[in-house]
Amino acid sequence: CGIVGYIGNRQAYPILIKGLHRLEYRGYDSAGIALIDNEHLKVYKAKGKVDELEQFAQQKDIAGTIGIAHTRWATHGEPNHNNAHPHYSQSEEIAIIHNGIIENYTVLKEGLMKEGYTFQSETDTEVLVQLIEYMKKTNATDLPTAVQLALSQVVGAYAIAVLDKHHPDLIVAARKGSPLVIGIGEDEYFIGSDATPIIEYTNKVTYIGEEEIVTIKRNEPLKIKTIGNIDKTPQIQQLELTLSQLEK
Ligand code: GLU
Repeated sequence: CGIVGYIGNRQAYPILIKGLHRLEYRGYDSAGIALIDNEHLKVYKAKGKVDELEQFAQQKDIAGTIGIAHTRWATHGEPNHNNAHPHYSQSEEIAIIHNGIIENYTVLKEGLMKEGYTFQSETDTEVLVQLIEYMKKTNATDLPTAVQLALSQVVGAYAIAVLDKHHPDLIVAARKGSPLVIGIGEDEYFIGSDATPIIEYTNKVTYIGEEEIVTIKRNEPLKIKTIGNIDKTPQIQQLELTLSQLEK
């Protein structure tokens, strides 16, 4: 029910955990985090509170300057560890977090199963990450194009963020129906379901539009295109809000 992301020069983990706490008001039943460090894609998740995720993750390797994190409000599959996000693709090279519902996930899942894909969870979300991997492999495309191809087959609502372990300088995010904001700092980017996890670091934001996909690359300007392949210029806004106003 909430998503957070970070790419920059700082350690991502503390920023992501703090961001999840800021989004707690949205409600959730489980939480999880994915980080890339030295071409390792690490995924940690826990049923229950963000505190429980923290207790678990703090015993693990949490190094990394790029990551995504999620609080889940279960729609497909009961709230448990397996169904918590992030979800991996079959090769465990790609990880996704998702808010919303993939309405046609049964049809997509059947198609992928015919191609030999197996599933670890009962979620609609896992179907989407498998579809992204399938598009990447069968069309030999880059990650943003694979996300675009996958989303062109999806019926439903989503805000997603995707990591690929072979691209430690890249997060691909997209939305339709669910909200998504990118914060623009000095040589760093923040992702949030709303501005509450972002505002303490920067007040420069861009709100991602319906059916838009954003390529967030370390030390490069944001690139936005629609699922229909139209390039968009990011509209950067200066937020007047301060964190103390948000907390009232
Ligand atoms: N439909 C997804 C699930 O059940 C995402 C739910 C959410 O928005 O947190 O896992």
